Amino acid sequence: MSAKKIPYKMYLSEEEMPSTWLNLKAFMPRSHAPFLDPATGKPCSAAQLEQVFCRECVEQELNDTDKEIEIPQGIRSFYTNFRPSPLVRAYFLEKALDTPAEIYYKFEGNNTSGSHKLNSAIAQAYYAKQQGLKSVTTETGAGQWGTALAMACAFYGLDLHVFMVKTSYEQKPYRMEVMRTYGASVTPSPSVTTSAGRKILAEFPGTGGSLGCAIAEAVETAVNTPDCRYVLGSVLDHVLLHQTVIGLESKIALDKYGVRPDIVIGCVGGGSNYGGLIAPYMAEKLQGKNDIDFVGVEPASCPSMSRGRYAYDFCDSAKITPLAKMYTLGCAFMPSPDHAGGLRYHGMSPIISKLYHDGYMRVEAVRQTEVFAAAERFAKCEGILPAPESSHAIKVALDEAIKCRESGQKKVILFGLTGTGYFDLAAYKSFNDGNMKDYVPTQSDLDRGFASLPSL
Ligand SMILES: *Cc1c(COP(=O)(O)O)cnc(C)c1O
Repeated sequence: MSAKKIPYKMYLSEEEMPSTWLNLKAFMPRSHAPFLDPATGKPCSAAQLEQVFCRECVEQELNDTDKEIEIPQGIRSFYTNFRPSPLVRAYFLEKALDTPAEIYYKFEGNNTSGSHKLNSAIAQAYYAKQQGLKSVTTETGAGQWGTALAMACAFYGLDLHVFMVKTSYEQKPYRMEVMRTYGASVTPSPSVTTSAGRKILAEFPGTGGSLGCAIAEAVETAVNTPDCRYVLGSVLDHVLLHQTVIGLESKIALDKYGVRPDIVIGCVGGGSNYGGLIAPYMAEKLQGKNDIDFVGVEPASCPSMSRGRYAYDFCDSAKITPLAKMYTLGCAFMPSPDHAGGLRYHGMSPIISKLYHDGYMRVEAVRQTEVFAAAERFAKCEGILPAPESSHAIKVALDEAIKCRESGQKKVILFGLTGTGYFDLAAYKSFNDGNMKDYVPTQSDLDRGFASLPSL
C-alpha cells in the first residue's frame, strides 16, 4: 500500500518525461531470430532493409545491444504536444466492481488521431525528414495509423500515400477525411495502381482487402518511387521501441507513489502498444527482479498467438516482405470481415512472440461481444468511449478485478487504454442492436492459413 494519496489522474511534468526509449531486446537473454530474405533464405542485410525503410529505423531495428536509445529533441518537442498522457487510477471502476484491486490505466487516446500510434508516427516521419526523403507510403486498416502518420507528415512537411483496406475505406469515410485534411492521399486497397493489387483483384474479384495486401501495395509503391520509403505502424522492433514511452511514463508516475503492478494487461494486434507498455517492467523481469503477470489479449477471431504457430512467415499476403520468425496464422489467413477491431493481423511482433515462446508472458483470447460488453461497462463509469481494440484489455482487466473480489486479493492491475472509439460507432451500433456475432475460426479455417507458411 502506498503512503501518498493517489490522485485520479497522475500527470507528469514535461521535465519528468523520459528522454530515452528502452530497447527491450538488449535485456533479452537471446534476441529473436533475424529477418530472412525469402529469395536466399539468408538474414537480410541493413542495406537490403534500407531500400524499403528509413535508415535510422533500420539501425534501431537491428540494434540489440544499447539498452537506452535517445529520443531526439525534435521528437521530444512534438511529444509535448500530446504527452505525457494521463495515467488514471480507475476509482470509479473499482467502486462499480466492488473490488479490493487497485486498477490503473494509461490513456493514449488524447490526441486527434485517437490512439498511441502517434508515438511512432512522429518518430518515423522525423527520421524520414532527416534523411532528406520527400515522401513515405503506408497501409492502414481501421485508420488510426494512417491518421497518426498524416498528422506527423503534415508537421514535418512530407508527402504521404496511404493504402487503406477497402472494407475500412467504405465503412469509415470520416477517417479518410481526417487523413486528407492533414494532406495525405488515400487509395482503397486492393487497387489497380500496383502489380500486387492487380494480382489479388484478379484472384479474388470483389475482395474487401486485408492489411497484408495493403502492406504489399505500400511497399511496392515505396520501392518504385524516388526519395520515398515505406513506414509501418506496428510489429517491427523499432515501432515497439518508440512505444516504450508509454511504459516509461507509466512507471515514472507509479514509482512516485510507490505503486508496483502485479499484473500488466494490454491488447495485442501487431504487439506495439503492449510491447511499449510492458517494456520497463519486462526488462526487470528478464533480469529476475520481479515476477509480474504479463497478459496480452487478442481477439478469438484472429488468435495469432493462442492458436498460431511459431514459424518464419511473410509479413504480407502478397509474399514480398522479408520473412519474420513470429507467431502467425499464415499470411493467407483471412480474418472475418464482421470483426470490428483493428487487431486482425495474421502475425505478431517478433519480440512479443519470443517473450511468449520463452514463457515470460501469457495470452488470452476473448470474443467480440464480451469485449463490447466490457467497453460499455467501462464507459459508463470512467467516461471514456474506448476503442474496440483497447476494450480487449478492459475485458481482461475487469475479469481480473472480479477475481480479486471473489478471492479477497488486493492485486494492483495496470492496463493500456490505447485509444478512443468515436470512429467505431457502427460496431457499437451493431452491439447495441443485438446484431453482433462472435466469430471463432474452426481448425480447418486455421489449417488453410497454415498451409500458406513458407517451407524453409
Ligand atoms: C492499432 C491499434 C491497436 C493494435 O496495435 P498494436 O500494434 O498491437 O498496439 C490497439 N489499439 C488501438 C487503439 C489501435 O489503434
